[in-house]
This record gives sequence, C-alpha cells and structure tokens, in this order.
Amino acid sequence: MNDCLVIGGGVIGLSIAWELARRGQSVQLVDQGKLAREASWAGAGILPPAARPLAIHPYDQLRAMAFEMHREWSARLLRETGIHNGYQQNGAIYLARSAGEVASLVAWSQLASDEQVQIEKLTPARLREIEPAIAPAPSSKPLRATYFLPEECQIRNPRHLQSLIRACQQAGVELIENSPLVDLQLHGGEVVAAITSQGELRAKNYCIATGAWSGILLQKLGFEVGVLPIRGQMLLLKTDAPILRTIVNEGPRYMVPRDDGHLLIGATEEEVGFDKRNTEEALADLHQFAIELVPSLASAQVVQSWAGLRPASYDGFPYLGKLPNLANAFVAAGHFRSGLYLSPATAMVMSDLISGITPAVDLSPFCVLR
Ligand SMILES: Cc1cc2nc3c(=O)[nH]c(=O)nc-3n(C[C@H](O)[C@H](O)[C@H](O)COP(=O)(O)OP(=O)(O)OC[C@H]3O[C@@H](n4cnc5c(N)ncnc54)[C@H](O)[C@@H]3O)c2cc1C
Repeated sequence: MNDCLVIGGGVIGLSIAWELARRGQSVQLVDQGKLAREASWAGAGILPPAARPLAIHPYDQLRAMAFEMHREWSARLLRETGIHNGYQQNGAIYLARSAGEVASLVAWSQLASDEQVQIEKLTPARLREIEPAIAPAPSSKPLRATYFLPEECQIRNPRHLQSLIRACQQAGVELIENSPLVDLQLHGGEVVAAITSQGELRAKNYCIATGAWSGILLQKLGFEVGVLPIRGQMLLLKTDAPILRTIVNEGPRYMVPRDDGHLLIGATEEEVGFDKRNTEEALADLHQFAIELVPSLASAQVVQSWAGLRPASYDGFPYLGKLPNLANAFVAAGHFRSGLYLSPATAMVMSDLISGITPAVDLSPFCVLR
C-alpha cells in the first residue's frame, strides 16, 4: 500500500506529491483528465514579493514562505529535470485610477512597507523612466497612484508544470491520468479506499487537491465548504521584441511580459460555473485595457486566448489541513488567484502535516470548519 494518494494533478497536487516523494514516501497521484491542464496551466505565474520575518498572519507567513521557496524550487527543478520554468525577477508596476482601487492599493502598499518589502511610490517622471511604454490615452481616467515593486517575479506555468511532472516521475511518483475519483470509502473514522472510474486505489493517507472541483468531493465527506469556480479569461499578444520590462497590475487586471515578446493580458473574474469558454466581450475588454495603457500594443499580434477556473473560497483563504474526524484525509484547495504562488509553501506545510510533523505555519485559519 502506498503512503499517500494525492487526488488532483494541478500545481497543488503535483507539488505535494513531489515534496512527499522527496521525503521518501511512496506516492500515487490521480487526475480525472490529463495532468496540469486546468487552472494551473491557465494562470499567469505572477509571484508578488513578501517577507517572512515580519509577516504576522498565517496567510502572510505562507505567502512569504512561498516567495522564498520559488527561487530554490526553480533552481532545483532545473538541476533535476533540465527544464527551466522561466523563473525571473521582472519587478512590477501597480497602478490605480478609480477611488476604490486607489484606496486598496494604498492600504496594500502600507502592508508591503510594514513587511519591509521594497516598494517605491512613483512620480510620473519615474514611471516613464522605469516603464516608458506606459502612456495612458488622454481620453482614459488619469493614474492616481503608482508604485514599483522591484522584487516581483514570474514563472511560466506550462514549463513549471512540465518540470514538476518530470520531477515527480523521477522521484518515483506514480501518475495516473483520466481516472476521475468518484467517491471515498470510509470505515471506522478513516478513508479506506478511493473509488475511481478505473477501480479502487488504497493508501495510508489521502490528500484532496482537486482545485475548483474540491467542493464536490468534500461534500461527499460531509463538509459543506464554499469552493467556487471563478473563470479567468486570458489573452496572449506577441510583438517582435518585448515592449514592457515589468509586470503591470491594475486592480484585477495585469500584463505579464515574457522574454520572447509574448505578453499575457489577464484576467476576468466571472462566476459562471464550470464553463471555460472565452467570450468576445471579455477578450475585447482585455485588449482595450492593454492598448489604453500601452498604445504601442495596438499593432501587436493577437496569438491566443484561453480561460481557466480558479478555485475560490468565500473568505479568500485556501482550505489546508487534516479533515476533522477523519484520521487519514487531508485537503489543499481553494487557492483562488494565488495557487501557483502559494504552491511550494502549500507542499511544505501539507507534507509536514501528512508526515506527522507540526508545520511552521499555524493552519487553523485554513481549517474546513472555519
Ligand atoms: C486566468 C488565471 C490567471 C491566474 N494567474 C495566477 C497567477 O498569476 N499567480 C498565481 O499564483 N495563481 C494564478 N492563478 C490561480 C492559479 O492558477 C490557481 O490558484 C491554481 O492553479 C490552483 O491549483 P490547483 O492545483 O488547486 O487546481 P487545478 O490546476 O485546477 O488542478 C486541479 C486538478 O484536479 C483534477 N480533478 C478535479 N476533480 C477531480 C476528481 N474528481 N478526480 C481526479 N482529479 C480531479 C483536475 O482535473 C485538475 O487537474 C490564475 C488562474 C487563472 C484561471
């Protein structure tokens, strides 16, 4: 019998499987479809800076732990698999125009300063110096607050996921695709088997990491948690050479420049159930957002669009921990807009918990019964 069955092969499940296997555990991972093709593939890979020594809330501690770990994980994945996940420090500009967005950006900048994250309030001249391509159309609302976070990083999700899959295989994780888990059999306060469309799987411990679908399995176990799929649509542009140097964020929308001239424009936040289609209206809005801020993008080629389903919870925190009243069942889901970012720290705390070690971060705010 394997030590652990991880259910769900997105960035959360794969990261946990890799970490457990590196600790010497025998691990199976099962996915309902192909590995790493859902939210984790669709995301932008933005990694906002955070600093650990001064983080007070467990969520901020988790962010800070993740931010530190990405550098180390990226280097290790490259060494072990030969795949470069695109980890790089671009820095980021944060902009706000409406009164509401200015208020939340100013509050957020204060949190960053409190955590001693490097942050600079920009004058228009300094903004032009850092990111000369930003030139909002005169007809658009003026920029009312602008900050620069030089430490912000990015990874390229599909490459990161490929490297995780290879690292899992090399570490002996058995990866099973196209086998939806339909039920978990319980006996004596424990999970005794996972029932998939292909048959039964048994392990000492079970970890649910099924992203936006997690509510369905948790409900079967008697936990009414609010995991909602929130659609995010994305547009990919291409120019001969990169036009932006930094990641540019405005409210929930952003532009992420890749080295090769590709530019990601994201993302919508839509509550439309498990519908992953793009809509013309949303793509036109994203396109217009980009061109309004960076007029030189008007001539960029539109390459591709896609959508993914973020796993959201009602209070914005993920569900992380052991399931109450079940001795060997765990959950790691509901990371909403930050699953890529939080994935290494999630893997660390979940692997500690599954191995019987007290995690470095207090997980009580993330309990399913909160
Ligand atoms: C447009 C967009 C942009 C984003 N940008 C960022 C970003 O810049 N930075 C960031 O940190 N995050 C970002 N995110 C969020 C991030 O992608 C998610 O938080 C993260 O991918 C969640 O990972 P996951 O492994 O929980 O879910 P998923 O990647 O959705 O994986 C869940 C897996 O579980 C499988 N599964 C479901 N049900 C079952 C079942 N019954 N049996 C077996 N398998 C099952 C699915 O097939 C899937 O492979 C973005 C998301 C979107 C959509």
